[in-house]
Amino acid sequence: MATFDSNSSLLRSACRGREVDEDGVATQGASKERFDNRITPGDYYLPWEGVDKWEKEGVVDLMKSFAARTEGEEEQEDGSSERWQNMEDVTSRAYGMYDETGVFLALRRHNFVLKVVDLVRSRELSKYPLAVTAHILNALGEAAIGYDIGCKLGKMIKVHPALKDLAQDKKFRVLVGSFHEHGHNRLCGLDNLMTYVEGVGLEPLEGCEPFFSKSNALVSTTRYASRFHRQQAIPTYLQHTDTLDTYYSLSSTTVLEIKSTFNASRDSMRELGVQSRAEFESWRASEKAHLSTLLKEPEEETLEMEYFQELVNLQDAEYVRASFIEGDTAY
Ligand SMILES: [Zn+2]
Repeated sequence: MATFDSNSSLLRSACRGREVDEDGVATQGASKERFDNRITPGDYYLPWEGVDKWEKEGVVDLMKSFAARTEGEEEQEDGSSERWQNMEDVTSRAYGMYDETGVFLALRRHNFVLKVVDLVRSRELSKYPLAVTAHILNALGEAAIGYDIGCKLGKMIKVHPALKDLAQDKKFRVLVGSFHEHGHNRLCGLDNLMTYVEGVGLEPLEGCEPFFSKSNALVSTTRYASRFHRQQAIPTYLQHTDTLDTYYSLSSTTVLEIKSTFNASRDSMRELGVQSRAEFESWRASEKAHLSTLLKEPEEETLEMEYFQELVNLQDAEYVRASFIEGDTAY
């Protein structure tokens, strides 16, 4: 079980010269950074080359596959394509001022760090979750991963030529974090919230946000550091956190989680008069069936709204007409 997300606080300013053109407009010049081929210590980092290949890997086949699906079956629209736009690779704009524009971090259960990747002159593109997912599946085997736009990532992986077989083989399951899902789409949540997926536990899968709220303290030392020194500071911080924060509090966190989960589940069942856990599943099925009928506005309601709007238009038109008549009379 893992969760991943990006954070743009740990960006690094590019060290570049300044050039002024004939119109007096200043632009960025060539890089002034010293050549440095030192390698990042430890194994927290996924190398840039390993990530970049996912920018092109299988993209042509993937686009064909999406096109075929669009022509063939009508996909259920859950709103994710409209509301969740941060995976648009094509329209991504360059971040001229920065070389590294943040990090993409993967945490496992209890918030131990699995991997970190630099966002390089880009925002959060699909290549980052794809690269980290492939790495986790190869390294750990079966995995369920929570992501803010997990539903969209899941659809992409399902048809991705370079990843779909691996994902199927490792029984990969994508989930959506509880905070993001509740603001996103309830119907999607009934399929992708951890609460409703058997065997994965009850974590909210929102570990990255509190993690970033602490790691943001690193910004003062990494914003203007060299590439190597930034890549040295970040894993050093991650190792420190894993060893002295996460591991140190592991026992107490686990005991608290078990106690609160067990008590909440038992108390809720008693208060609601629920006889067996199977009842929860029947509630989920009936809620899903009900919400599925609401994907489109009911026709009667649409007609009522249109009729109301026509009445408003009529009233406005009559008001304008009456004003003209009054005006004519006055002159
Ligand atoms: Zn969704």
